[in-house]
Amino acid sequence: MRALLWFVPLLVLACTQLPPDEGPQPFDASDVEIEREIALAGMQQIGSDLTPLGDPIVQDYVRRVGQRIVAVCDRQDIAWTFQVIDSDEMNAFTIGDGKVFLYAGLLTRLENEAQMAAVLAHEIGHVARFHTVISYQKAVETQTILGVAGAVFGGGELTALAGNVAGSILQSGFSRDQEDQADRLALTWMYQAGYDVNQFPRVFEIFMEQVGDAPALYNDLFGDHPTNAARIAESKRIIAEKFAGQRSPTVGEAEYRSMISRIR
Ligand SMILES: [Zn+2]
Repeated sequence: MRALLWFVPLLVLACTQLPPDEGPQPFDASDVEIEREIALAGMQQIGSDLTPLGDPIVQDYVRRVGQRIVAVCDRQDIAWTFQVIDSDEMNAFTIGDGKVFLYAGLLTRLENEAQMAAVLAHEIGHVARFHTVISYQKAVETQTILGVAGAVFGGGELTALAGNVAGSILQSGFSRDQEDQADRLALTWMYQAGYDVNQFPRVFEIFMEQVGDAPALYNDLFGDHPTNAARIAESKRIIAEKFAGQRSPTVGEAEYRSMISRIR
C-alpha cells in the first residue's frame, strides 16, 4: 500500500500537463461537454448564495469590458457571461464554460478599467485553457488508479464526478501552474485589447495594501502574501520583456470611477 501511495502522485503528474499558452489547444467536443457539466454543477452548488448586483448599468459596463477581452482571446466557441456579485469581498472567479463572476467589493477597490480588464482577462484565461476540465481529468486519473471507479466513465459517473470537481474548484480553486498560465494569458490579451498592461501588477499591489501580510482566505484571484509578491515580480518581468513600449493604451479612469460610484 505504501508503494501505491507513493506511485499515485507521480502518475497523476505525468498524465496531466498544462495545455500550451499559444497555438492549437488539445481539447475537443467531449471536453466542452464535460466543461458544461462541471459549470452546471457549479451553478447549482452556488445556488442562491450569490446575489447579482442589481444595477444593470454597472453589469453592462463589466460585460462590455469582458467582451473587449473575449474579442482578442482564442476561445470563441462558447457564450461568455460576466456578472457582478453583490458582496463586499475582494474576489473574482470562474466555473468554466464562459461564466465569470466579479465581486462588487473588488470593483470598489480597483482604480480603473484596465485593472478590471486584468481581472477579467485572468478569469477568461482559466476558461480558455479548460482549467476546470484539467481538474476533472486529474480526478478521473486518480479514481482510475485507485480503482474507485472503472476506467470508462458513463453518464451517471460523469455527472457525479463533475459535481465533485465543481465543489473542489469553488472551494480551493486552481493549481499554482494554472494561476501562472492565466496571468500570462491575461497580459497578452490586455495588450492585444489595448489596455495598459502595467495595471496588471497594480491589481496585486492593491490587494497587498488592503490585506497586508495576513494570509488570504481562499480566493481565486489572490494567493497568500509571498505568492502575490511573486506574481507582481513575474508580471513586471514579462511586461518588460514582451510588452515594453505599448502605445497610448487605455487606462480608463474617469468612466470607471463614475461607474463604480454607483456601487458605493
Ligand atoms: Zn485564478
